[in-house]
Amino acid sequence: MRVVLLGPPGAGKGTQATLLCQRFGLAHISTGEILRSAIKEGSPLGKEVAPILAAGSLVPDALVIELIRERLMKDDCLKGFVLDGFPRTVEQAKALALLLSEIEKPITNVVEVRVDDAVLIDRIVKRGQEGSGRSDDTHEVVARRLEVYRAQTAPVTAYYESVSEVQVVDGLGEVAEIHRRICDLVEPELAD
Ligand code: ADP
Repeated sequence: MRVVLLGPPGAGKGTQATLLCQRFGLAHISTGEILRSAIKEGSPLGKEVAPILAAGSLVPDALVIELIRERLMKDDCLKGFVLDGFPRTVEQAKALALLLSEIEKPITNVVEVRVDDAVLIDRIVKRGQEGSGRSDDTHEVVARRLEVYRAQTAPVTAYYESVSEVQVVDGLGEVAEIHRRICDLVEPELAD
């Protein structure tokens, strides 16, 4: 199973990706996590991207596409993977399709987690106050992240609708319940 998880910041993609990976033994690939760990290490990549993440803007396509290309070559991806936070632009989505067509392992499911804007802002600001340690979990930066999402990432959903199918899941409710909804969508015969 090779899943792309779409949805705005704060929709719970990270949480749901983790659960899905545990359940089906998949590799969890989060570009946000890869970038944050580079920042923590203080590597040249980390130094380059730190101000971009802090501002809530997007890291250049070429840079994240290269990170993903390298990540997809690792052995743990052979059993399948969940992409969380990538692709975030149509250019990234097209580059991903090309990479995966070269290895003949196309995406099997595109799942969009939908949540209202008001809920998103609340969730993220709370996460920041509760100590997420993320420089971008503040009121000001959340507004910017949502704006970037609408302008650059919402078109990714339209792109996938035009080339395949997008499975929509309601992201409001208990974590376990949303997990069940996603499992029902991606592997109906395996779900409880
Ligand atoms: P969220 O979905 O809550 O915004 P992420 O961890 O996915 O959190 O992303 C955090 C930040 O990392 C983004 O605001 C952006 O700056 C950067 N980032 C993550 N993934 C990408 C990507 N695919 N393309 C460009 N920038 C990215």
